[in-house]
Amino acid sequence: MNPDHPAPSPEDPSSEGEARPDLSNTNVREDLAMAGRCALVHLPTGRTCLLPLRHHGPCEFHQPQEAQEVVAGNLDS
Ligand SMILES: [Zn+2]
Repeated sequence: MNPDHPAPSPEDPSSEGEARPDLSNTNVREDLAMAGRCALVHLPTGRTCLLPLRHHGPCEFHQPQEAQEVVAGNLDS
């Protein structure tokens, strides 16, 4: 027996979740991300942010059909 043996410190599960707390309720559409968009999906509503990647300010979520138009390249810009 070795009474001086230190107990292993437990992993801290909260350390990873603090990097992007704003993403806790969201996901990213890969097809929109490939199109250079923020592509963040607001899961409760199913809407997607169509602003450019790394845009300033808060996300603006649009209907899925608008997102689909961006993916298809039909957006007039
Ligand atoms: Zn956004």
